[in-house]
Amino acid sequence: MSARSNLSQPAPSQPAPSPAALQFLSAPHRLLIGDGFREGRAAPIAVENPCRETTLTHVDAASADDVDDAVRAARAALDGPWGRMSGADRAAVMMRFAQLLEDNAPLMAEVMALDGGQPLDSCKAVITMLGAGLMRYYAGWATKIAGESFLPSPGGSRAALDFMVSTLREPIGVVGAIVPWNAPAGMMALKLGPALAAGCTVVMKTAELAPLTGEFFARLLLEAGAPPGTFNLLHGLGHETGAAIAAHPGIDKITFTGSTAVGRRIVQAALGNLKKVTLELGGKSPIIVFPDADLDQLVPASAMACFVGSGQACMAGTRLFIHDAVYDEVVARIGTFADDLVLGDALAPGTQLGALISARQRERVEGYIALGQQEGARIANAPAAWSGPGHFVAPVVFAEARADMRIAQEEIFGPVVCAIRFTDEEAMLRDVNSTSYGLSGSVWTRDIQRALRVARRVDSGQVGINVHAAVSPETPFGGNRESGWGREFGREGLDPYLKTKAISINLGERR
Ligand code: NAD
Repeated sequence: MSARSNLSQPAPSQPAPSPAALQFLSAPHRLLIGDGFREGRAAPIAVENPCRETTLTHVDAASADDVDDAVRAARAALDGPWGRMSGADRAAVMMRFAQLLEDNAPLMAEVMALDGGQPLDSCKAVITMLGAGLMRYYAGWATKIAGESFLPSPGGSRAALDFMVSTLREPIGVVGAIVPWNAPAGMMALKLGPALAAGCTVVMKTAELAPLTGEFFARLLLEAGAPPGTFNLLHGLGHETGAAIAAHPGIDKITFTGSTAVGRRIVQAALGNLKKVTLELGGKSPIIVFPDADLDQLVPASAMACFVGSGQACMAGTRLFIHDAVYDEVVARIGTFADDLVLGDALAPGTQLGALISARQRERVEGYIALGQQEGARIANAPAAWSGPGHFVAPVVFAEARADMRIAQEEIFGPVVCAIRFTDEEAMLRDVNSTSYGLSGSVWTRDIQRALRVARRVDSGQVGINVHAAVSPETPFGGNRESGWGREFGREGLDPYLKTKAISINLGERR
């Protein structure tokens, strides 16, 4: 790895947080349980600015007793005011909440940039497009939840009775939501939108590494008119607060986004009362490039498909399968693109890539960069060595990677892409599907038959054709294999928050 010009060095300026952000940081950061913010009974957690390695503030953390209280408050709201609201009234609360998210986006984005280390503009986009956008989309569903009525076929001992069946779609109950630190406003909205539309109440745990955005959700949802207890916000460590939520007998469903390893623990903890579980887990998504691809489109799109968020995105396109005919050109162009990306402070104008979330994550990513070289892959670009505070890692393009290398099998969650050469379509597809993940992917070609043929063979929840990870509120998203259980977004994202009750009605006549 060679150090080169300062193109990839951080933007020099480190703007100070705004007075409003400083005021926010200096206030206490409590838990929202029922109708008020209160102190947590577990040890407070320090929140770091990953771009500067300074402590921003501390948040209160929830003990198992706090989790109990939050579940009780959520149950009371479900059996009480929120549960009795009509779909139209729930939709009105959600629409007001969406508007409040947008109105508060500037400060909220600044806070999200400070504890998450990602560029300010990208935080704003997550809040408005994913946060408010999802809330409005699911508000639309709140008035469209309906069962069906039908006349069943005769059968069984009561065959002679004439009856009809009417199904009701009811809220599944109290939802425990556990989110990761990347794009927290989007992750929370993704849980909250369908849960509120369905009429559920929520106990949400933020990620300990980036918890601050959650506080805006708590305040703004109350302001939008959600009755106390509808949404309860807990901070806390995974193995304490998270584990207490996953195991709690008063919680009916867990929705989790995070690593596959923790996903397994959630499933085990949920066994006690057989909670319903949806899981959005890790990925190692392929980008498949054929010789006839439009390389001018492909190069920036595929580079950013991997490097956006400094590679800390579940759907990141981290395995580039490039046909031999264009391999050298694509690798060279993506390497140049990567080297020109500006790393820097999340608040500095012009920053394209921020810091990794923690020292631990940086060490992990650096470990994989060293491993890749030991495995025989070659760094094809010139990532700058980092000197200075902040958990920054410059993007790395590995050439001559093989699909069976660990760097091409394991989720790195950093700005590292593996370029794998192929000639034979069948062999390439076997390699594409050879990881334990199956979250996202894309195929790049101008040949529509080949595009559809290959897209169908990629074993992932989502495959783009000449686009990677085109996320929208309407489009189902989720993982195959060890990338998860179930889908989020779209109508399919609503279903896990509903349960069906069939009511059989005796029509009083014999057939
Ligand atoms: P993580 O699994 O370490 O933590 C996620 C959340 O789980 C945090 O809130 C954490 O406190 C909590 N947690 C940890 N241990 C727990 C336990 N024993 N019981 C209950 N909760 C526990 O993941 P992370 O490092 O915060 O996030 C990165 C991971 O998330 C990556 O693997 C990434 O691919 C995945 N992710 C997936 C998607 C998706 O939609 N598929 C989206 C974003 C991130």
